[in-house]
Amino acid sequence: MTLNTAAADTAAPAALDADQLAARIAAGHRLTEAEALAVLATPDFATLPLVGAAGTLRRKHFGNTVKVNYLVNLKSGLCPEDCTYCSQRLGSKAEILKYTWLKPDEAVAQAGYGIAGGASRVCMVASGKGPTDRDVDRVATMVEQLKEEHPQVEVCACLGILKDGQAARLKDAGADAYNHNLNTSESLYPEICTSHSYQDRVDTVQQAQSAGLSSCSGLIVGLGETPEQLIEAVFALRELGSESIPVNFLMPFDGTPMEGTWLLTPLACLRILALVRLACPDKELRIAGGREMHLRSLQSTALEVANSIFLGDYLTSEGQGAAKDLDMIADAGFVVLGQEASSPAEVARRLQHAAHAASAHEAPAGGCASGCGTGCGSAATGCGPSAAREPVLRRRGAGTQQGPNA
Ligand code: SF4
Repeated sequence: MTLNTAAADTAAPAALDADQLAARIAAGHRLTEAEALAVLATPDFATLPLVGAAGTLRRKHFGNTVKVNYLVNLKSGLCPEDCTYCSQRLGSKAEILKYTWLKPDEAVAQAGYGIAGGASRVCMVASGKGPTDRDVDRVATMVEQLKEEHPQVEVCACLGILKDGQAARLKDAGADAYNHNLNTSESLYPEICTSHSYQDRVDTVQQAQSAGLSSCSGLIVGLGETPEQLIEAVFALRELGSESIPVNFLMPFDGTPMEGTWLLTPLACLRILALVRLACPDKELRIAGGREMHLRSLQSTALEVANSIFLGDYLTSEGQGAAKDLDMIADAGFVVLGQEASSPAEVARRLQHAAHAASAHEAPAGGCASGCGTGCGSAATGCGPSAAREPVLRRRGAGTQQGPNA
């Protein structure tokens, strides 16, 4: 059974009473495996009511705020690990940007673009199995500099598998959180990676927690997991106490083993997000990579369940324009976390700023393929990744001479 196999729309209504389930969870009930299976088996026609029910929990804990996060890819590609889903893996033929460590000034400058766009958390990410102590010192310097310039902004490091003492070093430098995704279930893990283990990942999440860092750990869905395996992974995150849960929808890059793997539908993505919300009602649920191509026109509907997104681009691929991200949040009646008190005029000014920044991008080599006439190559004008059904490789921001998507 694949994840987009909901019961046929002609079948009898699902036995699941989503409103009642959400009310029980609000009163302290823990989602069971049988209930989780029923959530995933919700028919397409009952999925928007399911979203509404899960949304009551989202509003109970996060109101109408959306947390905006911004990725800075500190070091791209050239990884010796073999994670099948990853464009940066050993042997990847994906023509991604490849570069070694950004200088601290450049990393902080890149972060600043996202902060100006409304990000309240910056995620500093480097490819590789895990950092050396020297790498950790390098990132600690960046964190200190970033915190000095933007003390109000949360910093999350994502450097791979940690060794003893490294989490404490990052914490001492001022990092607030550490990201290390479980990605999938323990039972599926050997099929998606052989160069490190599921337990390695659990150990790193626990090391970060022990050092006092907030844990950010989530999923990649659409890898071929069964509903039972997806639930296994979600319940493992619940047990682990992940404070923020990014849900990535597989971007099947050409040149990786997952090329051509499309197992999700937009409504299946909504059911998965609803499952995570019902299992972990008070945790930050972030719609992460792949939202544009998998949720498509339902991106803003997904904000009824999730309370967090990445602004702009991903590590190796381009997201929809930052202006479009911010428009989407405002159009759906949400406010960016940290800007709750902004007047409508201030919000309009920020949107204008982001739209201007997006249209100021230089055209990619060969010009904008959509022929929209603006020469921007940006999703902000309706062309580019928001309309794309395939990953669009990142050619701007960190590691390039082009302006970022922020
Ligand atoms: S360790 Fe990280 S960067 Fe390396 S292949 Fe796996 S996911 Fe990609």
